[in-house]
Amino acid sequence: MTSAAEMPGPEPLGDDELGPVTVLALDGLSLAFGGLAALTGLDLTVYGGEIVSLIGPNGAGKSTVFNVITGVYRPSAGRVLFEGRPIAGLPPHRIARLGIARTFQTLRLFLNMSVLENVLAATYGHTRATPVESMLRLPWVRSEERAARALASEVLSFFGQRLAGYRWDQPAYSLSYANRRRLEIARALATRPRLLLLDEPAAGMNPTETHEITELIGRLRDELGLAILVIEHDMHVVAGCSDRVVALDHGVKIAEGDFDAVANHPSVIEAYLGRDPEALVQPEQDVT
Ligand code: ADP
Ligand code: MG
Repeated sequence: MTSAAEMPGPEPLGDDELGPVTVLALDGLSLAFGGLAALTGLDLTVYGGEIVSLIGPNGAGKSTVFNVITGVYRPSAGRVLFEGRPIAGLPPHRIARLGIARTFQTLRLFLNMSVLENVLAATYGHTRATPVESMLRLPWVRSEERAARALASEVLSFFGQRLAGYRWDQPAYSLSYANRRRLEIARALATRPRLLLLDEPAAGMNPTETHEITELIGRLRDELGLAILVIEHDMHVVAGCSDRVVALDHGVKIAEGDFDAVANHPSVIEAYLGRDPEALVQPEQDVT
């Protein structure tokens, strides 16, 4: 089998003269774990300023898509193009530096560190100073630290009262579950990404918090100009924020289009009824 990289490219990517800018393009992506085909021939595009939702029953391969984009897994076939540049196979820290940030389905905060320290730690992955240079407190290192604090406070202020002032010095373990999820997003923003990958940002949230996170995702696009790929189980969130929805089942794309078209697609209904019927509750009212 020839690899996808040797085949002629389908179209020029990242050319904003000819249409929307392509931020992310997955092209014929496949990945197997032993005998299990986790992803098969997946094509998926995210354009600049777009919010695309990735849905599908448990085990469909959604988190695996994020793991391939962020370099945790190398695809067995196909390409990952970020702003036109092939990134599949690069190590995760290099991909992060190029401008892709993610949150995790299961949170990865430093629970004993303060809110502010959690965000600062995320910016330090993107600063130049080595630990020894930081200890020596060289002038340029201090100015880098000031810049990191300014960025951290800018990022935290995006969450309004939820992560405001007095909470900055509290340990992350003292935060409510919803605020921990917000902090996880703040950490992702602290790397100044252009593409943000959110893995089930509303998981475990109550209806008010879910509504708030839906609005927040819209603001991340509108105010920060981010392209966003979001995995979400809550159909209120998906309906409320998505420009486009892609549905996966068994690692295969089974539907793509606007929310109504995908949510009512027979293959999507069948996939959920087979394995995840509770997730198929339609939003009874528009949350936007
Ligand atoms: P989703 O996020 O849609 O619930 P995942 O992407 O986590 O699904 O998983 C897709 C499939 O791949 C599942 O069958 C899962 O068990 C399998 N899988 C995911 N990661 C691994 C791994 N590291 N090793 C083996 N199997 C895996
Ligand atoms: Mg998952």
